[in-house]
Amino acid sequence: MVMVPRTISPAPVAVDSFIPRHVGPSPADQQVMLATLGYDSLDAFIDAVVPEQIRFRGTLNTGAQQSEAQVLASLREMAAKNRVCRSFIGMGYYGTHTPNVILRNVMENPAWYTAYTPYQAEIAQGRLEALLNYQTMVIDLTGLEIANASLLDEGTAAAEAMALAFASRGSATKNVMLVASDCHPQTIAVVEARASARGVTIKVADPRTFVMDETVFGVLLQYPGTDGAVVDYRGLAEQAHAANALVIVASDLLALCVLTPPGEWGADIVVGNTQRFGVPMGYGGPHAAFFATRDEYKRLLPGRIIGLSRDVEGAPALRMALQTREQHIRREKATSNVCTAQVLLAVMASMYAVYHGPDGLTQIAHRVHTRAVTLAAGLERLGFAITHEHYFDTVRVEVGAHGQEDILAAAARHDINLRVLEPGTITVAVDETTTEQDIADLWQVFNNDAPADFGYADVATDADARYDERFRRVTPFLTHPTFHRYHSETEMLRYLYSLQAKDFSLVHGMIPLGSCTMKLNATAEMIPVTWPEFGALHPFAPREQAAGYAQMFRELEHDLAEVTGFAGVSLQPNAGSQGEYAGLLVIRAYHHARGDAHRTVCLIPQSAHGTNPASAVMAGFSVVVVKTDTDGNIDVDDLRDKAVQHSANLGALMVTYPSTHGVFEARIKEITAIIHEHGGQVYMDGANMNAMVGVSRPGDLGADVCHLNLHKTFCIPHGGGGPGMGPIGVASQLVPFLPSHPVVASHEVSTAIGPISAAPWGSASILPISYVYIKLMGGEGLAYATKVAILNANYIAKQLEAHYPVLYRGQNGLVAHECILDTRGLKTVAGIEAEDLAKRLMDYGFHAPTLSFPVAGTLMVEPTESESKEEIDRFIEAMIGMRHEIAAIERGEADREDNVLKNAPHTAGHCTADVWTHPYSRQQAAYPTPWTRDRKFWPTVRRVESAFGDRNLVCACPPIESYAPASA
Ligand SMILES: *Cc1c(COP(=O)(O)O)cnc(C)c1O
Repeated sequence: MVMVPRTISPAPVAVDSFIPRHVGPSPADQQVMLATLGYDSLDAFIDAVVPEQIRFRGTLNTGAQQSEAQVLASLREMAAKNRVCRSFIGMGYYGTHTPNVILRNVMENPAWYTAYTPYQAEIAQGRLEALLNYQTMVIDLTGLEIANASLLDEGTAAAEAMALAFASRGSATKNVMLVASDCHPQTIAVVEARASARGVTIKVADPRTFVMDETVFGVLLQYPGTDGAVVDYRGLAEQAHAANALVIVASDLLALCVLTPPGEWGADIVVGNTQRFGVPMGYGGPHAAFFATRDEYKRLLPGRIIGLSRDVEGAPALRMALQTREQHIRREKATSNVCTAQVLLAVMASMYAVYHGPDGLTQIAHRVHTRAVTLAAGLERLGFAITHEHYFDTVRVEVGAHGQEDILAAAARHDINLRVLEPGTITVAVDETTTEQDIADLWQVFNNDAPADFGYADVATDADARYDERFRRVTPFLTHPTFHRYHSETEMLRYLYSLQAKDFSLVHGMIPLGSCTMKLNATAEMIPVTWPEFGALHPFAPREQAAGYAQMFRELEHDLAEVTGFAGVSLQPNAGSQGEYAGLLVIRAYHHARGDAHRTVCLIPQSAHGTNPASAVMAGFSVVVVKTDTDGNIDVDDLRDKAVQHSANLGALMVTYPSTHGVFEARIKEITAIIHEHGGQVYMDGANMNAMVGVSRPGDLGADVCHLNLHKTFCIPHGGGGPGMGPIGVASQLVPFLPSHPVVASHEVSTAIGPISAAPWGSASILPISYVYIKLMGGEGLAYATKVAILNANYIAKQLEAHYPVLYRGQNGLVAHECILDTRGLKTVAGIEAEDLAKRLMDYGFHAPTLSFPVAGTLMVEPTESESKEEIDRFIEAMIGMRHEIAAIERGEADREDNVLKNAPHTAGHCTADVWTHPYSRQQAAYPTPWTRDRKFWPTVRRVESAFGDRNLVCACPPIESYAPASA
């Protein structure tokens, strides 16, 4: 057959065009793939896949493609408009020295940042160990028993703590949480926003005036307070416990190196941010928040927990604990919706602790405290009153209303940012980066801009002895050898690389996780993230210092609005889950504003991702499940019935498009029209936007809100399970309700909902990644990427359909950007389950597709546009190879129990052991294809037994002896 291409998709021929760097298959490869599918051009193929009624026929107005050099040059100019001043604002964000060994080898290292959430533990032992270190660090420093491996930010963590306390309250009459007025204002606001939707009453007050009656289920304290005060809360904790209320403490790990940990004075939950452990401020994020609690609440702990288990040989092996819970996020019974967290940043913070060890951390904490105390002593000499006797790093100074103006003017002249706590009161927060010169400059700022007549050495005070027994930490921390071994850079480098070598990431091969969109995270996209003009800004710095950011936000908001077909965008949500929650709060506010507060029913299809129902509940909706039909589409009749039945109270529909089954439902416009007819708003889960960009737009389909997972579709790397960003686009009627922020007026309208993130633009410092991607591709390039993503998925479906049934298809028998392989039948014929295939794929050098979502016992494959035909063909060969291995079992030639699949993955230790008892060869085990000889990735543990670990939950570094190899 002679292929005569009717149209050639944008032919990006220029050598400096980024498009062929991002898109794997060459135009020639595409022709071959199209031929397999029976199409002669990419456009004809896309016309067949995407239903005409949902098609976007324009070109996205996001500009023409630019070269890497061009985009980075213009971004440099933009970055130069940000002014990096010295910030002494504090409020949970501090200057920090990222150890360079961590900066280059973790933060800037694709082997760390391109990995996914460790769903496949056998090829993720490296970051699992780093995360166990993180949990150990949090447990030790907070004095509690169990910790998770990160939440999104401190405000969210406090809100999650409230949810835990609320869920475990003894009686339904308890619905009040008392919040200390000296919590960070953004924390209070995030908690209030969360509380209002759940019917929780928040009472903000001075903790000395707290009334602990029987309605109180929790108290939230900040230790040290936002104004620096360190207060003894032992008595208050006792009162709270006497009233059956939980004590939640927002704290600071650096302070806890020298202060009594809250777990020792009555805290039930401790939350906070680990930013100052070596993670740049980044104008708000990303950084890892922590969450620690008592053992009795472990089953309510939000986010992911890493735990120790063992493999089939009994060797210690790590994995995500309680994972079945995690996979379904317990749907509408969930207390939390957190999915993507902040793994890369948690790894960085844990490595900061590993590198410095307890002595180094204590030294840093002492130095910070000494700087603060010295600053205060000098200010007293200058005649100022220091409010608090006990503080850690933040000095509260009473300056009087008049003095304030002069001080702020002097500060501005010195490029110094201070915080005005209230009229006449200024706070100064120092950190690891504060120098003696900084302290002298601060004195000058407070001294009518004249140098003080004393020097640092004159007032320097050794802070060591300042805390009495109420406050001084006595319990040792980080005693585990891991925190004592890697203090030389050589040892640290080798430790980092030894962990990295255990993890499969995009540097090794395809990670075809359906719904996760593991595409290229190009180096050019990553480079701006560590520019100081983006990295070193405090999120609450005056806005005129962030003009470059402001410009980027404007352009990105414009482009994302264009991509989604919406009128407005909020960049605040830190992950897809938070976008869902934000979008639903926006819908709720819209109904409230129209006097429709009763519209609280949220329809959600059976096949929805677990975050959907969890978010709906968090936003105050009650979930009604809609059926899916046998083709995997929404059962429109059932949807209409439910919409009619709940017409008076219908609030929203949450729908994923294309569906979680990877199909473009042709009836989507009919579906959104039914919801609108009955007074509801449509929330579209945009996790699958990689199938839509430039080809179809949510806003044109009748959706009212949609989140975008920038860490899926728009190239932010997954970081091993975070960071992410989940901005939302909304239709015009919802724009007035987009989230605001209490410190920085990011959306200054009275109708705005409260913040859903601690920082006004969420994890601002990773937004350049998506910005650069959009500019490199241009409007046509973005659509081209989508088309190739769809082509790649259909090519896989076609090549594998004879070996594994493809579960769902849309029109013309085609899928969208992913396909579900039905492996359930293999259980009956050969005793093989999807999990066996997932593990055996490791032997073939691949990461498994998504396992058992959205359909139990199946594999969902998403290749993305970035995978080349060669890599895809290798994957296909691996899948077919496994099918032959299964056929051998069916024929009785291979044993039903002792076979290559059941025993997978095979480690080097296993394959080279002196004794080999299996009926197949070592070669078959380890090198099932020729290319594995060339590029072998060895899993470091054999199959991990999850149930064992869940029965014996160990979530901190175990004593070193337990790592001794089990006797054979
Ligand atoms: C990834 C995903 C989410 C959750 O997004 P996070 O960024 O991980 O919070 C929600 N829905 C679907 C369909 C997803 O694939």
